[in-house]
This record gives sequence, structure tokens and C-alpha cells, in this order.
Amino acid sequence: MPRFFCPLPLVTGAMLELPGGAARHVQVLRLQPGDSITLFNGESGGEFDAAITHMGRSDVQVQVGAHHAVEREARRTVHLAVGMPANERMDWLVEKATELGVASIQPLMTERSVLRLSGERADKKVAHWHSVAIAACEQCGGNRVPAVHPMQTLTSWLSTAPGAPHGVGLLLSLQTGAVPLRTRVDNACADAVTFLSGPEGGLSRIEEDLAVSKGFQPVTLGPRVLRAETAALAALTTLLI
Ligand code: SAH
Repeated sequence: MPRFFCPLPLVTGAMLELPGGAARHVQVLRLQPGDSITLFNGESGGEFDAAITHMGRSDVQVQVGAHHAVEREARRTVHLAVGMPANERMDWLVEKATELGVASIQPLMTERSVLRLSGERADKKVAHWHSVAIAACEQCGGNRVPAVHPMQTLTSWLSTAPGAPHGVGLLLSLQTGAVPLRTRVDNACADAVTFLSGPEGGLSRIEEDLAVSKGFQPVTLGPRVLRAETAALAALTTLLI
């Protein structure tokens, strides 16, 4: 059954008009009155049956049906803080990280970042990644849409970040002395993890040292130099699957 993100309060029995994104999606799929769909709002948990009652030119009305308290969330809360890879690679990373069950994504600008945006352009990009995360949840069955936080520089993020709610801090590092991620995960088994991963050009020594001084522990994914998005996804897979 097609699933749609509907960021409105959902109550069994209520009639409602679908918001823009979901309505457009229903139109594209050429659904008809009487067709059944699934709605989730990413906040209250679970998902709802719904039936289309009216298709206008651009508006779509539905009646909300039964609530199902189903959750398909990961066994750990994992936050990804990542030096944004450029081009469509970040879209791809947001999509795949959402499928794997990431809890939140913090896009970071680092010393060697190619992608540097501020103001309206940065906000637009983040809104775009949020819509990529929504589409991934619609596809994979996740009922909690991961937050995509506003872009920040690594240094400003490190100066405020990872307090207690974000759990253990891990730094994906190519430097000698980093311990294998898998052993770190098996031993610690923390419920919440924040991991920091570099952009295409990697993190500088100064940035890595700063992260370590803030309590991040260097971990390795082995001797191969993985691309930025591969490294982040490999770590997520190890932590979540
Ligand atoms: N050109 C850079 C490579 C950066 S790879 C260099 O040669 O240093 C991008 C990021 O992916 C790195 O900053 C690191 O966070 C992560 N990464 C890639 N391969 C990794 C590995 N084998 N173990 C741990 N982290 C890795």
C-alpha cells in the first residue's frame, strides 16, 4: 500500500486534506476515491490506514482509518555528523542513511569541504535533504523521519555538541591507533552513538585532534580508504544492522 508522510495531527475517523507534498504524490500515482493508503506523521509514532474520499485538481481529501502502533526503528539511536560530500553524493547518503535507520544527520562544513553554503541557499539545501529523508521513509516503512539539522562548521558544532543525549562519540579516522569499529561496538554496546565522518578530502589533523579533545574516540573501518559516503554508510550498517 502506498505510504505518505503527512505532517499533521492524525486521528482515526478525521477527514483531512493532504498537505502539498503528499497530495502531489497521490496525484502522480493517479490514485482514485476509494483507494487505500497509509499515512504517518513522523512524530506520534506508528501509522494510520486512510481512504481517499475526494480528488480535486490539486487537493486530495482522505478519511483517516485505524492506527497501527508499528515501529520499524533501529536497535540503537545513531546520529551521523558528516563533512558533506559534494554533488548528488550527499542526497544519496541521506537516502541510504535514512533507510538504514539513522536518528539524525548533522551536515558539517570542514576545512577541506567542497560544498560551502550559507543563508537561504544553505536552508534550501537542508530542506531538500529533509524531503529526501521523507521519501526514503515513505519507501522503507520508517515512521520516524530523521532530523536533518541546519549546516554548521565542524568547529562550531564541536563547541556546542555532543552532550549526554547523543551518547558515545566515535570519530571515523584513517590514523594509526584507531580501534576497529566492530570491536568498539561489541564492547560498548551503547544505546546512543554519535559518529563523525569526514568529507572527500578527509578531516585535517587539527580537526581530528579537536574532536578527540571533545571526547570522540577514533575508530577505523579497516585499511582501505573509503569514499566519504561509503565510510558513513559502512559505519551505520555496523552500528544499526
Ligand atoms: N582523501 C582523504 C580520504 C578521506 S575519506 C585522505 O586520504 O585522507 C573521507 C572520510 O571517510 C575520512 O575522513 C574518514 O572519516 C572516513 N573514512 C574513510 N575510510 C575510512 C576507514 N578505512 N576507516 C575509518 N574512516 C574512514
